[in-house]
Parts: sequence; structure tokens; C-alpha cells
Amino acid sequence: MITPRYRRVVLKLSGEALAGEQGYGISPEVVLYIASEIKEVIQQFRVETAIVVGGGNIWRGVAGSAKGMDRATADYMGMLATVINSLALQDALEKIGVDTRVQVAIEMRAIAETYIRRRAIRHLEKGRVVIFAAGTGNPYFSTDTTAALRAAEIEAEAILMAKRVDGVYDSDPLQNAGARKLDQLTYIEMLNRGLGVMDATAASLCMENGIPVVVFSIYEPGNIKKAVLGENIGTFIGS
Ligand code: UDP
Repeated sequence: MITPRYRRVVLKLSGEALAGEQGYGISPEVVLYIASEIKEVIQQFRVETAIVVGGGNIWRGVAGSAKGMDRATADYMGMLATVINSLALQDALEKIGVDTRVQVAIEMRAIAETYIRRRAIRHLEKGRVVIFAAGTGNPYFSTDTTAALRAAEIEAEAILMAKRVDGVYDSDPLQNAGARKLDQLTYIEMLNRGLGVMDATAASLCMENGIPVVVFSIYEPGNIKKAVLGENIGTFIGS
């Protein structure tokens, strides 16, 4: 049997990844596709998988505050958006037979468990997927930071950043036709060059705790599996 490079991972999905081509909201077909990609790595390699989903397909705090809303209120709305996405993903995973628990950073007992670190680890050990919803529970943070924080807490061996793009580029490929994809990057380079992979809070948490990050496209089938096996896909960020 092939041994995966990472035994426990945090998979970070941007909210937009769940939207598919429409660019907003949730596409049930896309969510089901992502769920089946996740199922493969769990069943084949028994990789302990925790997930953090963003909320950008529904709402981003900064967008609300740019239009005059109170920033903290707008951020709480963003955190609620991540709960909606997490439930959609849980639904799809359970439909295809993957045991899943959603743990929320803000108590909402009728909907999901509240985040308890040791309990999350126990779920993972039992082969359940744990989805960390509602971000860190604090405004002014992002779900990238949530992924870095939870990865450190549960001692994940890597963060797999599944995006709509296939890696990190030296400039915006949508603006610049000559943009070059970077295969490998250090945390310091990521921070100094402001490459926009993740915000600085998330990047420094990963750096301080030595958590490697693999950035790749979610839309290419088999990529989560390749990332878990340590194959050269997308961009690898480490020390
Ligand atoms: N958010 C927050 N605190 C957190 C995580 C998220 O306030 O710890 C809010 C913030 O407003 C953010 C929104 O939730 O804009 C959605 O998350 P994010 O923008 O990270 O989603 P993504 O870009 O990954 O879809």
C-alpha cells in the first residue's frame, strides 16, 4: 500500500470553490464532487482530514464594512456564511457515506457541536471528517487564519489549500499574461512578496509552527489525493 506523506491534514476550501462556475452561492453538484474527492483519500489512505471552509461565496466582512457596515457585525455575518457552507459539505459527505462532524467556534447547539480540541482529535482518530465552522469565532480574522490555527492545535502535518487557481503565481495571472507559477516558496518569500496566498496572520502562524502549505486547484480531479501523497502539484510553501 502507498504511504501518504501526511497522516493528518487540514483541507482549506475557499467559499468560492463551492460556488462552481456561477461564482456565488452553493452549487450542490460541485459540493458533491469535492466530497467524493475527499472520500477517496480517506478510504484509500485513512488520512485524518479536518476541513475549514471559507464564506466568500456568500459574504465577506470587509465587503460589508467597505459599504459602511460595522466591521465586527459584518465579520460575524461572514462567520455565519462559513456555517452554511460547512453544513452543505457535511450533507454531501454523509450522503456518500463519510462520517462527518461540524464543530462551530460560536455556540449554536441546535446545529452543531461546539469546537472542543480534544473531541475534534478523537473524531479524527475514529476516521470521521471534522469541519471547523464559524472561523476562529472572532471578527477581524479570516478562514485562512482559522486553518492555520486549527492545524497547529490538532497537530496537522500540512494545510492543503484547495483553490480555484492551480497554484501561486508571481503576479496575477488574470491581469498579466506572462505571470509565472511558482513550484516552491518559503514562508518568508510569501510574506515579503505579498503574494496573496493567505493573509499575513495566517502565514506567520504557519511559519512559526512549521506547518507546510500546499496550494492547488480543486477543480482538477485527483488533486487532493496527489497533495496528500506529496506529489508535485501546485505550489509547496515551507521553510
Ligand atoms: N471571518 C471572521 N473571523 C474568522 C473567520 C472568518 O470574521 O475567524 C469572517 C470574515 O468576515 C470573512 C468571512 O468570515 O470575510 C468569510 O471568510 P473568508 O473571507 O476567509 O472566506 P474565503 O475567502 O476563504 O471564502
